[in-house]
Amino acid sequence: MNRHIVVRFAPSPNGLLHLGHAYAAMVAHDFARARGGEFLLRIEDIDSGRSRPEFVTAILDDLRWLGLEWDREVIFQSERLDSYAAAADRLKAMELLYPCFCTRSDMRQLQEDGPQPEGPDGPIYAGTCRHLDPDLARKRAAAEPHSWRLDVAKAAAIAGPLRWRDERHGEQLNHPERLGDVILVPKDMPVAYHLAVTVDDARDGITHVVRGDDLFASTDIHRLLQALLVLPTPTYFHHPLLLDETGGKLSKSRDSASLSVLRLAGQSGQKLLQDFRQGIFPVGISLS
Ligand code: GLU
Repeated sequence: MNRHIVVRFAPSPNGLLHLGHAYAAMVAHDFARARGGEFLLRIEDIDSGRSRPEFVTAILDDLRWLGLEWDREVIFQSERLDSYAAAADRLKAMELLYPCFCTRSDMRQLQEDGPQPEGPDGPIYAGTCRHLDPDLARKRAAAEPHSWRLDVAKAAAIAGPLRWRDERHGEQLNHPERLGDVILVPKDMPVAYHLAVTVDDARDGITHVVRGDDLFASTDIHRLLQALLVLPTPTYFHHPLLLDETGGKLSKSRDSASLSVLRLAGQSGQKLLQDFRQGIFPVGISLS
């Protein structure tokens, strides 16, 4: 019997989409369609400081230009802040989050004092605020700006051994400690990516998370959060990334590669994806 398939593309509207996004959107879209499933569009606009309505408009125009149609209404994370706060409260009630008062300069100082162990997403947090006396931490939290970090070791001990499956990379043993005590509620944002994406993938009934290899390591945190919040675990498919001529990941700051520029120059988005589907990429661009 065919289980219903639901896949999403989840861009953050903090810049213009580039060729790498076109590839990612195509892979997710084609994955859903090839299996007779649904393809959803979720705008990940939790970072109100960087998200812009004009980028949302450009995303919708770019996807239409590429010939990618989504099902259901467009989902906006900014309309779902209550559900992220509820998830954070639940983790706090389980005593798995602790307030962190470290500033950027504290972090820099730590690096200068001695290089911190590197995780897949940068230096692993040294755990300074994890060791604060709980009463003192509570008092400080009432008066000082702070983020909330996940006590990964404690959470992983409660959750026990976990696994997840990636259709491209195979069965994975979960090792969230590789990312350290990640921030789930930043100082200056209602929620961090890891928590919002986990809550939403469950809420939207996503059966297959199709996204780039750059987010592969993050999945260990998402799998841990699923166990803690008693949410279902989707199957994953982390696809290769488009690289530029230097072998680096394409980035939003490189305006030349933006889809809007190509669209407004009269190029065909559908032809671009036809080429991608045959493994043909613009000069200087290759697949990782
Ligand atoms: N919003 C994330 C980004 O633009 C992607 C989220 C995901 O696919 O899990 O990088």
